[in-house]
Amino acid sequence: MLLFSDVAKVFDEIEKLSGRLEMTDILAELFKKTDAKEIDKLVYIMQGIVAPPYSGIDLGIGERFAVDAVASASGYSVSQVDAEYRKSGDLGDTTEKLLEKRKQTALFTSNMNVRYVYDAVMKISKSSGQGSQEQKIKYLTELLNNATPLEGRYIIRFVLGSLRLGVGDPTILDAISVAHKGDKSLREELERAYNVCADMGLVARLFYEDPKNIEKFKVQPFKPLMPALAERLSTPEQIIEKIGKCGVEMKYDGLRLQCHKKDGKVEIYSRKLEKMTRMFPDVVEAIMKLKPNEIIFEGEALAYDKKNKRYFSFQQTMHRRRKHGINEASKEFPMNVFVFDLLYIDGKDLTNVPYKERRAVIKKLFKGKGILKPSESKLISKSEKLEEMFLKSTEKGLEGIMAKDLNAPYTAGKRKFAWIKLKKSYGKSVDTIDGVIVGYYRGHGSRTEFEFGGLLLAVQNSDTGRLETIAKIGSGFTEDEMMKLRETLDKIKTKNPPTILDYKLEADFWVEPKYVIEVAFDDITISSIHTCAAKDGKGYALRFPRMVALRDDKGIRDITTSEEVDEMHNLQHPR
Ligand code: AMP
Repeated sequence: MLLFSDVAKVFDEIEKLSGRLEMTDILAELFKKTDAKEIDKLVYIMQGIVAPPYSGIDLGIGERFAVDAVASASGYSVSQVDAEYRKSGDLGDTTEKLLEKRKQTALFTSNMNVRYVYDAVMKISKSSGQGSQEQKIKYLTELLNNATPLEGRYIIRFVLGSLRLGVGDPTILDAISVAHKGDKSLREELERAYNVCADMGLVARLFYEDPKNIEKFKVQPFKPLMPALAERLSTPEQIIEKIGKCGVEMKYDGLRLQCHKKDGKVEIYSRKLEKMTRMFPDVVEAIMKLKPNEIIFEGEALAYDKKNKRYFSFQQTMHRRRKHGINEASKEFPMNVFVFDLLYIDGKDLTNVPYKERRAVIKKLFKGKGILKPSESKLISKSEKLEEMFLKSTEKGLEGIMAKDLNAPYTAGKRKFAWIKLKKSYGKSVDTIDGVIVGYYRGHGSRTEFEFGGLLLAVQNSDTGRLETIAKIGSGFTEDEMMKLRETLDKIKTKNPPTILDYKLEADFWVEPKYVIEVAFDDITISSIHTCAAKDGKGYALRFPRMVALRDDKGIRDITTSEEVDEMHNLQHPR
């Protein structure tokens, strides 16, 4: 059995490293000592979760409650803990320091194992209802009472949702592979399984039970898949050159839904894989009526504006749902779901079936089914026809088109050239990317009033899972938006930069990498202060970046990758 104190020592070691290879090796050594009964727990702890997002079980412990627990376990007052926390900027570090000073600890050794710690935190997460906050503090205090100072550091960081080790999902998968095979050759297989169930704990456990489980891992209802992601190109010609004859679909700017049904039960998941079933009673009803007993499909949901005979945009659709209440909005602004992919039907995993075959089934299944309809699509082999379709989409007020490789499988969680987007703005000089906010700046001049001077933005290196900065954004916000942004970001301020971030440019305030924004820009340039796709000390930066919108439908996994930025740069500046 794996002692939590041993795990904490390894975490401490990893935290001091910056090289990914070394991290992987140290982690692999730890994974070798872990068995099938505890590997899932260890993986969740490392991800800073107790269960995958769609389980609906959140850690649910606010910082205030954690401070209370630290105070009672260490014997210090809440204000003493607060003062120390303000100094260190990390409640985990504060916990360690105060537990060290705890009386009679000299000979204290803990013998909690990983499962014990995980189960205790699970119990804390699950306690709800009246008096549950006091319960949570009590359980957490008990846990800390049994902990060594170093264990305390990681217990507190775990309950607050991040161990701050700088270890991303790809590193965990690599380490599992190295632990079993001595090299990274199993990473791809493990990653595929992870991408089709979004539950790394489950994948790790099944793999430890029998590696064959992973080879034959299949899509299952109520285990949502990581959504496939689209690449981008800037002209119809480039698209035809890249994938030849393709299926070209309208690109709807709505809310991506992943719909699951089995034995009369329906669940709908968002792009971030959170359950949204209750938001869409009208869609649930329509799914119930579908013939297959088991089905998983994806579509883009948009409300229809009867008066203006146009679809509302994503922002407008959500606004209406919030303002008018769900049931009212369902009647007033009926939802339409444009089905664009089919992943599973009655026991059959379709993710490896070519797109053209999945599409044929969609057309048959969703024809004339009311609010669920196939996305509008055409087979196209000439760039002029693609251009025509693109113009048609913008005339309709849609976002552009999605070109799909006829022979490609469903690339769960991956950005491959199976899907290529051509968006409204591409033809012009304006382009957009999605990035995550990692820090922000104090205001100067007229903005001082709001104490807000802009954002530091990062994209993600998909190979290492690390974040790399690409822009400092000072415009595109209204005053109202600035105030709201500052308020929102103030709540997730951290003393230290995110451990997962590679940066050179400092922010005035660092934040947890959580909020995704869409950003327009004029060009991609080479910069010595940003780390995006950096080589020889030079990375990419956005020229004239400005915020377009906060994308609360997107999470870190959806943001633009450094590789994509590299491709965009090469497209704009052919060598
Ligand atoms: P983007 O968010 O710009 O990277 O574009 C990808 C998103 O477009 C997907 O996540 C879907 O939500 C959305 N989308 C709209 N229409 C389609 C379509 N026909 N096929 C695939 N995705 C679509």
